[in-house]
Amino acid sequence: MTPMAPRDRLLLCTPRFYRVEYVINPWMEGNVGRTDAEDAMRQWEGLRAALAARATLELVEPAPGLPDMPFTANAGLVHEDTFVPARFRFPQRVPETRHAVEWFRRHGLRIVELPGRGTFEGEGDALLQPGAPLLWGGYGVRTALQAHRHLAEILDLEVVPLRLIDERFYHLDTCFCPLPDGRVFYYPDAFDGESLERIAARVPAEQRFAVDATDALHFACNAVVTGGAVVTNFASDALRERLAHWGHEVVICPLGQFILAGGAAKCLVLRLEHPGARRPPGSPRATSEVRERAVEIQGDLLDTGLMNTVLDRITDGGGDFEIEAFQPGLRHDQASLARVRVVAPSPERLDAILARLLQAGVRVAEDEHDARLEPVEQDGVAPHDFFSTTIFPTDVRVGGRWVRAARQRMDAVLVVDGPPGEPRVTCRLIRELGRGDRIVCGVEGVRTEPTHVPRPGESFGFMTADASSERRVELAVERIAWEMRRLRERGGKLVVVASPVVIHTGGGPHLARLVRDGYVQALLGGNGLAAHDIEQALFGTSLGVDLKRGVNVEGGHRNHLQAINLVRAHGGIPQAVRAGAVPGGIMYECVRRGVPFALAGSIRDDGPLPDTLVDLIAAQAEYARLIEGADMILMLSSMLHSIGVGNMTPAGVRLICVDISPAVVTKLADRGSVESTGIVTDVGLFLNLLDAALGG
Ligand code: NAD
Repeated sequence: MTPMAPRDRLLLCTPRFYRVEYVINPWMEGNVGRTDAEDAMRQWEGLRAALAARATLELVEPAPGLPDMPFTANAGLVHEDTFVPARFRFPQRVPETRHAVEWFRRHGLRIVELPGRGTFEGEGDALLQPGAPLLWGGYGVRTALQAHRHLAEILDLEVVPLRLIDERFYHLDTCFCPLPDGRVFYYPDAFDGESLERIAARVPAEQRFAVDATDALHFACNAVVTGGAVVTNFASDALRERLAHWGHEVVICPLGQFILAGGAAKCLVLRLEHPGARRPPGSPRATSEVRERAVEIQGDLLDTGLMNTVLDRITDGGGDFEIEAFQPGLRHDQASLARVRVVAPSPERLDAILARLLQAGVRVAEDEHDARLEPVEQDGVAPHDFFSTTIFPTDVRVGGRWVRAARQRMDAVLVVDGPPGEPRVTCRLIRELGRGDRIVCGVEGVRTEPTHVPRPGESFGFMTADASSERRVELAVERIAWEMRRLRERGGKLVVVASPVVIHTGGGPHLARLVRDGYVQALLGGNGLAAHDIEQALFGTSLGVDLKRGVNVEGGHRNHLQAINLVRAHGGIPQAVRAGAVPGGIMYECVRRGVPFALAGSIRDDGPLPDTLVDLIAAQAEYARLIEGADMILMLSSMLHSIGVGNMTPAGVRLICVDISPAVVTKLADRGSVESTGIVTDVGLFLNLLDAALGG
């Protein structure tokens, strides 16, 4: 800084009424009433003296009852002849704005209020890079992201949004300090990853200095940069060295009294001028990267926690929101409706957040656009921003009309084809795509209809300490038996997915009886299920264990290999059954009743049986074919196959998942559809109860 440079003008406010009276940030906790008025005044005078030596100071009169008014940085933001007043998040600070507006009006500034309802905490979250038309905008704790979009437009500045993720660094000026010549020092842990990338994209590595936690927690970044000096509460040796190297004098002003309220030097100062922040004349107006979109959601928003899920997905995705309308369902059977404005720091972030919201059943409001279709360039490879499906019914807008997707399943892409005027939409796996197929990309023109969102704890357990849980499993089994009877009566379709655990736990004969009695219309499993089922039919053992006596049979370890060998000799399970070589069991009943089955291969398979589909793509296709039209799927202690089946099954199919591991049950029952029931119990016991309930 040359000696001739004009002095900065700064606005301060005497801490006459300063004290910690309430708690609105983590620093204030435990500090109510703990400030020492005299000491605070002495510290503030110290800061004022340090600043007065280097800048021109102006004062705004403090007001009684507004203890935080000395933190003038939060009053608003000044740019040229415009003052944008703050819109505080907490009601305790709201009255400060009136005093600030009066002061600026008296001093001839144009007052421009931000549109919308989003919060904005002034220079605390809006720091100009000295000498450049670049505004760093903090959001995520106090200031709404939307404010930065409006600031870019109102002030014609490039605004770079930075998301704060640590409540202790609740304003940008607590963890980020821009310096002249395009430099900054900052505390990286206070920001999310994308914000750090945004900083790095604009400030080369040698121009930025990352402070450590000691500096950060002593408010080193909360510094006033003026007249060539950096005036701050604290600076470590490393920070001092770097600042000295960059030509700054470091002036330490202890401000412990103000740290009790979560503020230090910068918080106590508002800049009244920003030389060099005007964009060059004739340059196109600054545009903001911030994007927003209104979405709507309908359903049991409160009971199911759906509203929380939606808002969490927005903030977890780096975005911000404003609830524009909320109409609660007034009766038990009435849905609630919410309209939420989603704001994101960039168009890409907005798309990513919307994609996650669509999966929760949110629909993009004002979505009067057709879906964007991109062609497949390479067989089996989708365009990069393909829309990925869920289990829920999905509509796509093509040629001005909404078309329901066929073959709904999750983890697929949406292919649009058909003659003009009669578009068709189909869910297809990426590997099934052919060059030239047209795929839905982005989130525009897509809506999903979730039937239900799970309530936490909707599955229940036998293994819990709850004394009534045994009874609860019995009740659940009773209910499932009732549904199965009705299904059989009306010619419905029940698919069973089962693992060899069914056999090991003595459930085999029960499942066999369900097949024999016409309750099961398709069976899905792996090599192990059939191998151990046939082993049991032949030898009364499962993995060599006698199922009646529960003891190892001598030489029994080779029994399942014998079984596999026997089937191989006949060329397959149906042939072996028809030849009378397999006397009973699940597979026997399937063959006898003509119940189709599919056995998918795996790396641990013995044999395998000739019937096992070792081509996994063929196995997936066969599973999908057998699931088609299912009303109910009973998933019995097979994590691998059940999850595979879950992914292929659209919402609307009743799923019953039985497993001893709560994690497996939760994963399968938590698909977000009303039709899932999870039961944590021993599968042998479950089948025993079910068989009994069905009159077996
Ligand atoms: P998996 O791990 O996918 O599923 C087993 C599930 O059973 C687990 O979720 C577990 O929590 C649950 N479980 C364990 N004990 C239980 C009980 N008492 N009651 C209820 N649930 C219980 O394993 P998988 O499906 O058995 O096998 C994976 C693959 O290995 C399959 O393809 C299968 O065919 C193959 N396999 C082959 C052979 C063979 O060829 N000899 C033998 C076993 C498995």
